[in-house]
Amino acid sequence: MGDPIATRPPVDDLLRSMRDGQVQSDEAIQAFVAGVVDGSLSRPQAAAWVAWAFARTLSPPETVALTEAMTHSGTVLAWPEGPEVWDKHSTGGVGDKASLILAPMMIACGRRVPMLSGRGLGHTGGTLDKLEAIPGFRTDLTVEAMRAQLDTLGGFLCGQTAELAPADRVLYALRDEIQAVPSIPLIVGSILSKKLAAGVQRLVLDVKAGRGAFMPTVAAARDLAHALVHAAQAHGVRTRALVTQMDRPLGEAIGNALEVAECLDTLRGGGPKDLRALCVALCADAPDAEATLDDGRALAVFQRIVEAQGGDPRVVDDPTRLRGAGCAAFVVEAPRDGVVSRTDAFDLGLASVRLGANRMRAGDPIDPGVGLVVHADPGEAVVAGQPLVTLWHRDGHGLEAAHTLVTRAIDLSDGSVSPDPLVHEVLGA
Ligand code: URA
Repeated sequence: MGDPIATRPPVDDLLRSMRDGQVQSDEAIQAFVAGVVDGSLSRPQAAAWVAWAFARTLSPPETVALTEAMTHSGTVLAWPEGPEVWDKHSTGGVGDKASLILAPMMIACGRRVPMLSGRGLGHTGGTLDKLEAIPGFRTDLTVEAMRAQLDTLGGFLCGQTAELAPADRVLYALRDEIQAVPSIPLIVGSILSKKLAAGVQRLVLDVKAGRGAFMPTVAAARDLAHALVHAAQAHGVRTRALVTQMDRPLGEAIGNALEVAECLDTLRGGGPKDLRALCVALCADAPDAEATLDDGRALAVFQRIVEAQGGDPRVVDDPTRLRGAGCAAFVVEAPRDGVVSRTDAFDLGLASVRLGANRMRAGDPIDPGVGLVVHADPGEAVVAGQPLVTLWHRDGHGLEAAHTLVTRAIDLSDGSVSPDPLVHEVLGA
């Protein structure tokens, strides 16, 4: 076999053809991704390619080729024979804690779930931050530990390893730096390469639309969902995408320990109705999905995962053991009688950031105990003085700003209000 670098098109040709808007062959896209990972393309050259891809957008076949090349830019995990291997990805939202419930539900339904997740940034939270509200919980499993736990417990919840889809780390940082993040083909390559490299056989995607989401409108979320389903199916992974509402937060709690406590309620058969309904919908036809919440099977799986990953399993029965105790409550009351017409996910998410529940820059510290709980949903009638939101703060940190945001986030009206449905659309198989 010859030198693989020698067989690639010269960098100048690659860049010229991209600059001139020519259709990129699979080989040209592979050469670009390989050059990004091995450093044979300089940062300005890689940034130029990305900027041209952003400006002219990639076609569906080019998007599939980019996804394939990024998926194979590092290790691609393969799991031993056994029950079907599922994962879920959410494009992110406020109060979106579904992964902590869905993974144990799917495992309790007999699927294997190697769930790899990320951290929160800005107004949207991250699964790893939520899990780390459980004292001792380790989110940095090695591939060997993942294999062992998939075998013994049917799944795990942990962070991405550096060997999976390394092209995404370089390309995402470049996109961020040159303001080229919001491009559907580039988002598809980024999201799917990490999931496909994790060796999934079935994928369920929660593509959120609205004020608290990456995609502001249902139409934009639908376009992203279509592109994701198309590229994942082209890779041979049967995929279903739900376009779901994110104008209002999911569930009631926003903030890491508060959200884990809400997940425990839901795993026990209670919890907010929308959170339970979304998790059941994301279980994608699993027989018995709801029963796993009502009969304690999903909760038992969650407890076993917590214990296996070094966490304190006693939090399951005693959520006061979650990290971040010692916060104080401040209650925001309804200023008058009315019907709740809006609980703005973006402003409520920002309020949680002000309190210290999430970070504005990668690497910033967060406080697992702070956050807020929203007590009224759009469509609900309230009377003056009734609690609308409880802010959990530490020594008043960020309280004033959070209070202002919460006041701005919630509207009351005099007429009846029909909230948007939770699930706008289901695509794929
Ligand atoms: N999430 C990702 O993982 N990648 C993107 O490009 C956007 C959102």
